[in-house]
Amino acid sequence: MWMLRGFSTFSGASGLTLNKSKSDIFFNGVPAGTISNILQVSGFHHGVLPFKYFGVPISSKKLTKLEGMKLIDKILARIRGWGARHLSYSGRLVLVQNYLWGGDADYKRAPNVNWVSCCLPKEEGGLGLKDAKVWNRALIGKYAWWLATKKDHLWVRWVSHVYMKGIEWSDYTAPSDSSWTWKKITHTLQAFKHAYVGNKWLDSDIPYTPQSGYDWLRTKHPKVNWRFLCWNSMNVPKTMFIFWAFMHRRLLTKDIMARMGFTADLTCDICANSNEDHAHLFYSCSYSVRCCSLLQQHLHITFSITDLVHWYSTSMLTGLQRRFIGACHVAMIYWIWMVRNEARVHSYVRRPEDVVNQILNDIHTRFLRLNLSVLHTKDLAWINSIHLT
Ligand SMILES: [Zn+2]
Repeated sequence: MWMLRGFSTFSGASGLTLNKSKSDIFFNGVPAGTISNILQVSGFHHGVLPFKYFGVPISSKKLTKLEGMKLIDKILARIRGWGARHLSYSGRLVLVQNYLWGGDADYKRAPNVNWVSCCLPKEEGGLGLKDAKVWNRALIGKYAWWLATKKDHLWVRWVSHVYMKGIEWSDYTAPSDSSWTWKKITHTLQAFKHAYVGNKWLDSDIPYTPQSGYDWLRTKHPKVNWRFLCWNSMNVPKTMFIFWAFMHRRLLTKDIMARMGFTADLTCDICANSNEDHAHLFYSCSYSVRCCSLLQQHLHITFSITDLVHWYSTSMLTGLQRRFIGACHVAMIYWIWMVRNEARVHSYVRRPEDVVNQILNDIHTRFLRLNLSVLHTKDLAWINSIHLT
């Protein structure tokens, strides 16, 4: 009766009413007679455990492994559906699943990738993925912020009263018999103490955000000089990831595969004239040299592919021409890698002329799609001078 009166007071104050036909009531250790009385008075249904709340099984017992797996399957199905709708994210997902962690037979045992560096921001040479562990701590950092600023919040009042009992939060350590969750929270509070001691957030008027906490917690790396060449809107998305791996020398060329014990054959599958390694495949293989020279003829430019990054950051051309030429070279790295894989699996090498035409057409389409409203006549003339077939 007290509970029903409580609901009615709540309804009066908030205007929210209970829908009795949609409400269940759960009992534990209550005699059958009392149960039927309560059901009659309240008008609620007799609920049975376990049931689902927002798809999550609610049970009085610990979830079984099977129930947990169902939940994981559901989340995965949601991610896959979502990934298919957003191609660029799907690209990332495919990259993480197949490329970095090995989906193809050749790459299965080749994680060759430092997860920490994938989680760096793109400008620092990573993929901009979030490190879930660090992100979780950054979210908990919000509690530290509330405590440090003595925010008038129910949670702050509760932990001050129940756990901290007058001890300053920065001096507080959780007793050994406290709950796992509370220990985790206080552990993160200690990490943030250093940020507040330096008064990073307290002295400035900028409030704490999980993103700023994340940036504070993570290890920072210097910015890479190829960030604009790799990540810009003129590039075809699928080519950017291969180029990123190329810049890290993470493409599994035969020399690396041999070191891992995957192959004993080192011969370049494209030219068959030399052993395949990063330098041969992309810089000195007669096929790559031919592609680069054809491509540069169309673009009216000459530089060595080994100087690409340097050329991009020092070129005196207009921004648009630089990005166009940069995107063509990023795509060329992608295509050399594709041709190499095709040669390896199907013993087929497509003509350099076809590859170069494909690249020029792709980047030209990309350029048209950018729909630049103000285009310099000099740039327009340059674009029109590129011969497309
Ligand atoms: Zn070769």
